[in-house]
Amino acid sequence: MIAVVCSAGEMSRVTLNYRCWAEVDLDALRGNLAWIRHRVGPRIKIMTVVKADAYGHGLKPIASLLMQSGTDIFGVANLTEARAIRNVGKGWPILMLGACLPDEVEMAVRESVIPTLSSIREAESFSACAAKVRTIVDVHIKVDTGMGRLGVRPDRAVELVRKVRQLPGLRLQGLYTHFSSAEDDAEFSRQQAKTFRQVIAALASEGIQIPVLHANNSAALLHEPDTLLDLVRPGLLVYGIVPVGRRLSSVSISQKQIRPALTWLCRVSLVKEISKGTSLSYGHTFVARRKMRVATITAGYGDGYQRAASNRAQVLIGTTRCPVLGRITMDQMIVDVSHVPIIEPGDEVTLIGPQGNDQIPATEVAQWCGTVPWEVLTGITNRVPRVYRGGHAS
Ligand SMILES: *Cc1c(COP(=O)(O)O)cnc(C)c1O
Repeated sequence: MIAVVCSAGEMSRVTLNYRCWAEVDLDALRGNLAWIRHRVGPRIKIMTVVKADAYGHGLKPIASLLMQSGTDIFGVANLTEARAIRNVGKGWPILMLGACLPDEVEMAVRESVIPTLSSIREAESFSACAAKVRTIVDVHIKVDTGMGRLGVRPDRAVELVRKVRQLPGLRLQGLYTHFSSAEDDAEFSRQQAKTFRQVIAALASEGIQIPVLHANNSAALLHEPDTLLDLVRPGLLVYGIVPVGRRLSSVSISQKQIRPALTWLCRVSLVKEISKGTSLSYGHTFVARRKMRVATITAGYGDGYQRAASNRAQVLIGTTRCPVLGRITMDQMIVDVSHVPIIEPGDEVTLIGPQGNDQIPATEVAQWCGTVPWEVLTGITNRVPRVYRGGHAS
């Protein structure tokens, strides 16, 4: 993936040569982190989650910005991501949110990546590796309170904690859980929180206190203020997107406070008139009911714009919303520009982001695709250069 850092003045010149690119506003990212910090208060630590190439924003520049802006710890999905962060800056703790594969254990230990433990088997292999490498390994234990993906069963959590404390070479630094539906289901989230608290209480009754307790992803950070605990783990919010769900109405966040960092753009490559009855694109799923003006634009599913949004999505050209007509193809799609007053090949097209007084949020693209904004952002492919602006220390 191409990553370009440029100042505001260089912007237009640099973008001129691109067909499809994403601009990442590092100042927005910094502001989002500041808002999260304000929201949780000074005593709670923030783990910024940067898995999947920082949600498609580009891991290294984002990690660098977050280091400058006060992240306490990083959350990653694999060791490659952890290594990339280490190359940007030393000293930040990194928690691997997924389980380590057996053959990754030694690498994780050697690179001081904090593993997530769900089982005695994992604990034993890290303990054995700690002896081999002659080191002490910081670990977090995960409790499965309803996500069902990782974590020890709540009724076995105390046993696992005891075991980890007994095993040589391990230092139990954290205990955590993960909400499965914090943006949608208050009742289920409350039950998850209660289960986690019961585990914490059972440990306390044995005199066991674990330094860092954590539970909240972005949605829970907004909706479950009682489970902020010692640390929060926002991903989506850091990138400026509020996880929308059935509980949205209970929090209000203004666009000034949380601002999407990513804008996704492409260009108009051809403009033409078509007559009534003309069909467009593969499978001729769209047939013009009238004479109309259409434009071919330079983005497709090869760039990560999902084909599922065919005949549903819209893009912004100038200040006009233009519907996508027919199937989205690998490198191009066709849009209705009948209502765009002035249009020429080379013009910019906004796929995600603001344009004039309108904007297309990633969440809206996700709806057209039948998916969630997490998938839309992480789906933007390597072919799309990321162009960075802002982020200079003020
Ligand atoms: C991805 C992830 C997060 C961040 O989730 P968002 O919904 O993007 O805030 C937090 N915790 C865990 C365990 C995760 O896997």
